[in-house]
Amino acid sequence: MDKGLLVIVSGFSGAGKGTLVKGLIDRYDNYCLSISATTRDPRPGEENGRHYFFVTVEEFERMIAEDRLIEYARYVGNYYGTPRDYVQKKLEEGKDVILEIEMQGAMKVKAKFPNVVTIFVSTEDAATLKSRLMGRATETVEQIENRLIRAIDEAELMNGYDYLLINDDRDASIEQLNSIIMNEHRKMTYNTEFIGEIEKGLKTLFGR
Ligand code: 5GP
Repeated sequence: MDKGLLVIVSGFSGAGKGTLVKGLIDRYDNYCLSISATTRDPRPGEENGRHYFFVTVEEFERMIAEDRLIEYARYVGNYYGTPRDYVQKKLEEGKDVILEIEMQGAMKVKAKFPNVVTIFVSTEDAATLKSRLMGRATETVEQIENRLIRAIDEAELMNGYDYLLINDDRDASIEQLNSIIMNEHRKMTYNTEFIGEIEKGLKTLFGR
């Protein structure tokens, strides 16, 4: 059996990547979502251990020092990072593990895991992004502005991702996300184990 695939979903703040990832996990059972650690405050309705592990700066820095994170980054004044143990365990169980992380972290993971697939989620245009972010009303005006400024930098670097997903229709985008990942499983570079086995099997069968 294939080992699970590591999948990074990034995107502009407000592009709806969280909703897409949640939809994907609810619809298909071969996916697991990595829960990140962060030093930012919980938003209303967010639970510790479900949306994030909400930790202090000291706790986060201890996780870095003990090498318990696959990657971490600073985003608009806070630390965010991916705990290593859960991801490794689920990949070994053959699950596809989704990391919903920002760009700096994505590039670090890509350097460490050559088979990772990277997907960038955008709205259809900039104006839609702004109105979605404003409509969310979970951040202050200043925080929203900082996120939009950050989006300008992200737009410059988004072409480093493997796939672009334009989230203009939730259901269709969830299906596209699933198709991208399923196709990735069929890549020859991901199936070296199968290739080795069938080659060996054929040689044994035909005495070569
Ligand atoms: P938010 O505060 O909106 O939940 O997340 C802010 C940004 O941090 C989003 O782009 C989100 O994808 C990213 N993020 C969440 N968890 C992680 C993580 O573990 N590592 C990195 N590098 N980014 C993360």
